[in-house]
Amino acid sequence: NLSMRLKRVFDYIPEGTRLADIGSDHAYLPCYAVLNKRCTSAIVGEITEGPFNSARSTIRQSGLEGIVEARMGDGLEVLKPNEVDVITIAGMGGSLIASILEKGKEKLQGVETLVLQPNIGAYQIRNWLDQEGYSLIKEDILEEDTKIYEILVASKSSTYKPYSDSKNKEMFIGPHLMHDQNDAFKKRWNHELKNFERILIQLQSAKQTEESIQKINEIKQKIEWINEVLA
Ligand code: SAM
Repeated sequence: NLSMRLKRVFDYIPEGTRLADIGSDHAYLPCYAVLNKRCTSAIVGEITEGPFNSARSTIRQSGLEGIVEARMGDGLEVLKPNEVDVITIAGMGGSLIASILEKGKEKLQGVETLVLQPNIGAYQIRNWLDQEGYSLIKEDILEEDTKIYEILVASKSSTYKPYSDSKNKEMFIGPHLMHDQNDAFKKRWNHELKNFERILIQLQSAKQTEESIQKINEIKQKIEWINEVLA
């Protein structure tokens, strides 16, 4: 059965689509999506042999051979042009997810929806999406087993722009998340606030260099943003 986190990623996959799940590990998400008829087919991308073999055995045990296909390779290189409608990338850091998208950019043509679930560093993804002309259409945040996860849903075809004139703040915190604050959101940002305040005190009590002064100003800015949003 799917974790709450992966179930939530599943919830954002549009009906009747062809899916690619990149960095899939056990292939739980793509198998679930096909078994529940959300997707008509799925490709599973894995760079590591162990997870690739786990993916193949889940596919076999689910009786999905020929409908869900595991391919070994780096990021989007496992995809042929126009092979899928949706790509999910979950359970990795935001900078790794952004670099997978950047490296495989040409494979994104024809892909309508990206559902991305960074464990940390959602900012890196928002920034990449914005620079590449994707619209961030939805965001979600949830807590499972004391960990907090964010989900970003983006689409190229949409002209919708979620950012206002406080774009840097919104990219840091999440333009949708900050307007619809659930418990996981509040918990996460109260925790981040305490962290930044602690780091700030440490930096301020150490010998100041040009570098540390810059860092102090960055952290002060972040603390101000979080306080504004949580107020
Ligand atoms: N997506 C699953 C989830 O959310 O539960 C698995 C997450 S697991 C922490 C990350 C997986 O991504 C690992 O199995 C790893 O081998 C794979 N991975 C990391 N970098 C990758 C890349 N560039 N291309 C394909 N797979 C990658």
